[in-house]
Amino acid sequence: MKNFNINNLVRPNVAGLKPYSSARDEYQSTGSEMVFLDANENPFQTDVNRYPDPQQRSLKAELAKIKNVSTEHILLGNGSDEVLDLMFRAFCEPAKDNVITLPPTYGMYKVLANINNIENSEVLLNSDFEPNVDKILNSVDQNTKIIFLCSPNNPTGNSFSAEKIIHILENFNGLVIIDEAYIDFSSEESWLIKLEQYQNLIVTQTLSKAFGMAGIRLGICYASVEIIEILNKIKPPYNVNELTQLRALDRVLNKGKVDSEISDLLKERALLSEALVEVNFIEKIYPSDANFILVKVDDANKRYEQLLEKGIVIRNRTTQPLCENTLRFTVGTGEENEKLLEALKNID
Ligand SMILES: *Cc1c(COP(=O)(O)O)cnc(C)c1O
Repeated sequence: MKNFNINNLVRPNVAGLKPYSSARDEYQSTGSEMVFLDANENPFQTDVNRYPDPQQRSLKAELAKIKNVSTEHILLGNGSDEVLDLMFRAFCEPAKDNVITLPPTYGMYKVLANINNIENSEVLLNSDFEPNVDKILNSVDQNTKIIFLCSPNNPTGNSFSAEKIIHILENFNGLVIIDEAYIDFSSEESWLIKLEQYQNLIVTQTLSKAFGMAGIRLGICYASVEIIEILNKIKPPYNVNELTQLRALDRVLNKGKVDSEISDLLKERALLSEALVEVNFIEKIYPSDANFILVKVDDANKRYEQLLEKGIVIRNRTTQPLCENTLRFTVGTGEENEKLLEALKNID
């Protein structure tokens, strides 16, 4: 990012936009002496009769504390899916720009590229599931706006080498998104601490995994103030609903509970990974920095079907590049993992 300038990356129509100012942007419903007759809401109490805070101030303030960043570096969305979609819409000109993704990885990057009519240039991971940095940088052209790095990576479970990530951050003049959906299960430090250092770094996280709130849809983006301002111009004003804001706030305020669940899951991950060695058709157990374990088996399709018959649903990744005959097991409760092991040992 030697000559990095965000104004060279933003789409021209987005650069020219003024953010839409909704009624609740102008006045906050928390000032109880005020009479709010501005947004055509229904005045009778249902607990949700008012529009939610478009800037999610209370939730951002608490997230800022636990993540040790300031609120102006945070943007929230309806799941990571919305946050990632905003990146495409802000920076990638349809039918012109491209992004780089590193399969095998999370499928949504490609789906979003297709929806937004953006070319998705794929550079496979190496056989050790690390980014092929030279190939990635050689694939960059003047229309490459974003490189997506998922670390820890789904479905492989490993975190990428910090050196390789730094090499990409330092030698690419577009945006580098590090998807940290699984960071709370990782032994590696979050890239959040590098936000000040790299103006082209965007870190995304979610409450869907370690925080146990996939159902409320809350995705988080951390980036420079300039990037956050651009994304704020194009996000729908009420993209994070009131129920989600309240439930998320409650959970973030109970971070101790979240931490204890994470530590339980890490113990379960270790137990499961050890026990899988006993299963005779499992040929390889990949190390995991996330809440799932990828294994190589003799015949993934057959084993997948056999587990289904026993009422156990896992993910068959055999069609993914470099993942032939692999299965992905999410780490469940001790009891669930026991059932999985029991089933695995009783099929032949
Ligand atoms: C599960 C997952 C997410 C979460 O997406 P949400 O829309 O926030 O639920 C994001 N990235 C990766 C790599 C994931 O595996």
